[in-house]
Amino acid sequence: MAPVEAEQHPRSALALAAHDASGRLSPIRISRRDTGDDDVAIQILYCGICHSDLHTIKNEWKNANYPVVPGHEIAGLITEVGKNVKKFNVGDKVGVGCMVNTCQSCESCEEGHENYCSKIIFTYNSHDRDGTVTYGGYSDMVVVNERFVIQFPDGMPLDKGSPLLCAGITVYNPMKYHGLNEPGKHIGVVGLGGLGHVAVKFAKAFGMRVTVISTSPEKREEAMETLGADAFVVSSDANQMKVVKGTMHGILNTASASMSMYSYLALLKPHGKMILLGLPEKPLQISAFSLVAGGKTLAGSCMGSIRDTQEMMDFAAKHGLTADIELVGTEEVNEAMERLAKGEVRYRFVIDVGNTLSAASLASSPVPAL
Ligand code: NAP
Ligand code: ZN
Repeated sequence: MAPVEAEQHPRSALALAAHDASGRLSPIRISRRDTGDDDVAIQILYCGICHSDLHTIKNEWKNANYPVVPGHEIAGLITEVGKNVKKFNVGDKVGVGCMVNTCQSCESCEEGHENYCSKIIFTYNSHDRDGTVTYGGYSDMVVVNERFVIQFPDGMPLDKGSPLLCAGITVYNPMKYHGLNEPGKHIGVVGLGGLGHVAVKFAKAFGMRVTVISTSPEKREEAMETLGADAFVVSSDANQMKVVKGTMHGILNTASASMSMYSYLALLKPHGKMILLGLPEKPLQISAFSLVAGGKTLAGSCMGSIRDTQEMMDFAAKHGLTADIELVGTEEVNEAMERLAKGEVRYRFVIDVGNTLSAASLASSPVPAL
C-alpha cells in the first residue's frame, strides 16, 4: 500500500498518527496528492481536537483504518490554487471541516444536504476516490477540492475559529432545522464540552433561554458567568432536575458517553425535541414511554452542509462568537487526549500546528515514513 500511495500522492507532509487502539499519536511522514484543477493546497496553522478524533484513534467505533491522522477542525492559509478554482486566492484564510467530498449527484447532494450523502468522504479515516485513506488536520498541509473549503470571515481568528468547523456547525445546524433558533424558546444543552459550550453561545446569540445539564457541578460558574447560560443543573441531582422538568422546547444532547435517557427526556415540554449529537461507543438506554407520553421527538443530526457551515461562520463572526480554547503544541497532544477523555478541557483543545509541527521541531523524534 505504501508505494502505491506515494506514487499517487507525490507530495510529502508531516503529520501525527495513531497506529493502534492505544490511540497514542506520534510523528509520521505522509503523502498528499498534487493540487488538482479544482483543488486548493492549504498550509495548516491550527486544528481543533474533537472528541470524534478520540473515539476514532481508540477504535471505539470499530472502524479505524490505521495509521489514523485525525483532525477535522482545520484552519490555515491557501498556498496554491488549481486552474479551475473560483472561490479562493493564494493567501486566503480558510477552514476545512468534517468532509472533503461527496458524490455531488444524489438527492441529498442536490438538495444541499451533502453531509448526508451515502458516498461522503470524511476528512480522515475515509476512503478517497483514488482508494487511499484520507488524512486529517494533525498535519502541516492538505489538498482539498474547493467546494469543501470554508472562507474565514474578516475578524474571525484562525485559532479560536477552527473548532466552529465541526463543533459549531454540529450545534448550529439542528437548532436551525428543528426550528429551535427562535428568541424566547428554552433549550437544554446536555454536556458542557467542545460542542456544548458553543451550543450555549449560539443559542444565546439566537436570543434563546439556555439551561446546561451537566454531570460536572464545578462547571456551574463558568457556564453561567462566562458562557452566558441562564441556568445550570446537575443531572445526578433529582431536585435540580425537577425544577426544569417539562420546560424545554428542545435539547441538544452532546454527551460523549452512553446514558439513561429517561430523566433527560422528562425535561422536554409536550412535543419537545431531543436532538442526539453525541456518538457514544455503547447504546443509549431509552424507554418508549419517555417519548410516547408527551408526543416527544428523538432525532439525530450530523454536522451540516458546506453552505450552512459558511452561513454559521458568517453568523459567528457577526456576533463575535468563537470557541474557548486551550492551545497545545504537538508534543502535548497525547496529554491533551488523556485530559479530553477525563472531561478536563475548557472547552476545546486546539493544536498550534503552524508553530509546533515541523521537521526541525520533530528532529528528536523518529519520523517514520508510510
Ligand atoms: P467533549 O468536549 O468531550 O464533551 C462531551 C461532554 O459530554 C463532556 O464534557 C461532559 O460534559 C459530557 N459527558 C461525558 N460523559 C457523560 C456521561 N456519562 N453522561 C452525560 N454527559 C457526559 O466532546 P465533544 O467534542 O463536544 O463531542 C461530544 C460528542 O459528540 C462525541 O461523542 C463526538 O464524537 C460527537 N460528535 C458528533 C458530531 C455530529 O455531527 N453529530 C460532531 C462532532 C462530535 P459535562 O461535564 O458537562 O457533563
Ligand atoms: Zn468533530
